[in-house]
Amino acid sequence: MSWRASVLTLFPDMFPGPLGQSLAGKALAEAIWSLDVTDIRDFGTGKHRKVDDTPFGGGAGMVMRPDVVDAAVASVADGRPLVYLTPRGRRFTQADAQRFAAGEGCILVCGRYEGLDERVIEARAMQEISIGDYVLSGGELAALVLLDATVRLLPGVMGAAESAEDESFSAGLLEYPHYTRPAEWAGKSVPDVLLSGNHAAVAAWRHAASEQITLRRRPDLWAARSSHS
Ligand code: SAM
Repeated sequence: MSWRASVLTLFPDMFPGPLGQSLAGKALAEAIWSLDVTDIRDFGTGKHRKVDDTPFGGGAGMVMRPDVVDAAVASVADGRPLVYLTPRGRRFTQADAQRFAAGEGCILVCGRYEGLDERVIEARAMQEISIGDYVLSGGELAALVLLDATVRLLPGVMGAAESAEDESFSAGLLEYPHYTRPAEWAGKSVPDVLLSGNHAAVAAWRHAASEQITLRRRPDLWAARSSHS
């Protein structure tokens, strides 16, 4: 059975969006993965299908009702990881993408307004995941980011030409620099070793370049890697 993503959102037309293109789109067409989108408004209350209400304790903004979100979750819940995209969550990493890709799929809840009533997050034991330290208007772009990073890791999505092996973060390092033709451009040449045809020397140069760039740009990644090795 293919890998399954379910997205709960108030803006179903935002999907598949960019995931209908390129690698993810081709894999979707080939049924390597599937995507179903649930409109949370279908579970809204009353004639106007209300999904939100004012916050207890006062303050600006609206909060998504727990009963409405819970009913929407119940319509798709089947044991797959349940994720609420929120800036308050743990920061999404490549390791998360690898973990999700190794499973059967996931269910993603996209918030709007001030977000979800805390009780439904707790009652459904949602994993809270953030895509970065900034506030988006809604969880949809975050869900697209999480899915894009995950789907490309599914078997059969990337060909040998797009191998994930050396990519940034796959071994706790940023990737080495890339060069292509022309060998001379704008007065700049390509490092000699890359033209040498010596595969071992190329591999050693790339590994050293990865280490240097990680140390310089991301001392946090470097420190985490050193402490694990
Ligand atoms: N009041 C919330 C706060 O300050 O933490 C922000 C709510 S935001 C305007 C609306 C929704 O966008 C959130 O419920 C969440 O689903 C989504 N969102 C915003 N920033 C995000 C981020 N960095 N990562 C994941 N989801 C995010």
